Amino acid sequence: MIVVIKKNQDHKQVENLTNWITSLGLGIHMSEGENTTIIGLVGDTSKVDIDLIRSLDIVESVNRIQEPYKNANRKFHPADTIVNVSGHEFGEKHFQIIAGPCSVESEEQVVAIAHAVKAAGATILRGGAFKPRTSPYAFQGLRESGLDLLRIAKAETGMPICTEIMSEKYIDAFYDVDIFQVGARNMQNFELLKELGKLRKPILLKRGLAATIEEWLMSAEYIMANGNMDVILCERGIRTFEPYTRNTLDLSAIPILKERTHLPVIVDPSHASGLSRLVKPMSLASVGAGADGLIIEVHNDPAHALCDGAQSLRPEQFVDVVKSIDVMLPLVNKARD
Ligand code: PEP
Ligand code: MN
Repeated sequence: MIVVIKKNQDHKQVENLTNWITSLGLGIHMSEGENTTIIGLVGDTSKVDIDLIRSLDIVESVNRIQEPYKNANRKFHPADTIVNVSGHEFGEKHFQIIAGPCSVESEEQVVAIAHAVKAAGATILRGGAFKPRTSPYAFQGLRESGLDLLRIAKAETGMPICTEIMSEKYIDAFYDVDIFQVGARNMQNFELLKELGKLRKPILLKRGLAATIEEWLMSAEYIMANGNMDVILCERGIRTFEPYTRNTLDLSAIPILKERTHLPVIVDPSHASGLSRLVKPMSLASVGAGADGLIIEVHNDPAHALCDGAQSLRPEQFVDVVKSIDVMLPLVNKARD
């Protein structure tokens, strides 16, 4: 349910209303724009007397929200949300590029790639320490020591770090990670999402392999319902019948999400296609569709990468992709840091 407050209302009266709503056991999502204040009611609103609220002097209108996601809903929060990741903003007019290897392999590898992607224009370093592999016999990541190598790369370049968290038991070990990635395979790991909701850390929530947009938004809702509003959505391709690409990039998800939610949306063209030669065209298509950023896999020696070499760009290819993105960004009214 959303309650729209009339312009220039007395703060005290608005507070009385929100106090009454919370006394009914409901949560509140306040959105104070320049012209309107919207109070979103979160929880079971079936027993709320809608006519009683409508009759209040300060209230302009009251409407029930059909969608099951509330905090993530643009109706609750009409303005774009800007998520700040250690000084780099995602959303609205901002565009950020996260880049780095699929997996952290060694200090030399991650530091060299970090310097290269930073010089090319990436603002955040990615690198998997804990890897969700389909096979238990495949390289599982360097785990805690991979986090240490990311810390070294962060200290050397000043880049914030983005890495995947697969279980809530590692939250403490991730204390200085700047943005926690929830991978496609964990999009519906609800216990993990609830724990991440208790943190004050940005979360990069990837779309599940076969998740609908609504299921994905409900996963964002799990994080937000627990108090953490700093969620960035990442479209990374979905599984279809098409075998020529690793996944199928659902570009239409971007404008649909922009209608439905106020959260920033970025695209991962590397996992979406599985082919390094598709990363540039898919990146440009994502910019055109309205994405707020990209996360791209870059490796200094893709042929010998321990994971996802076929979809990884060499640093010079990454430079070329960023140059093309820069040509497009003014057309969509966005700018990189
Ligand atoms: C990754 O970013 O390396 C990764 C495993 O991504 P996804 O969860 O989208 O497959
Ligand atoms: Mn990968």
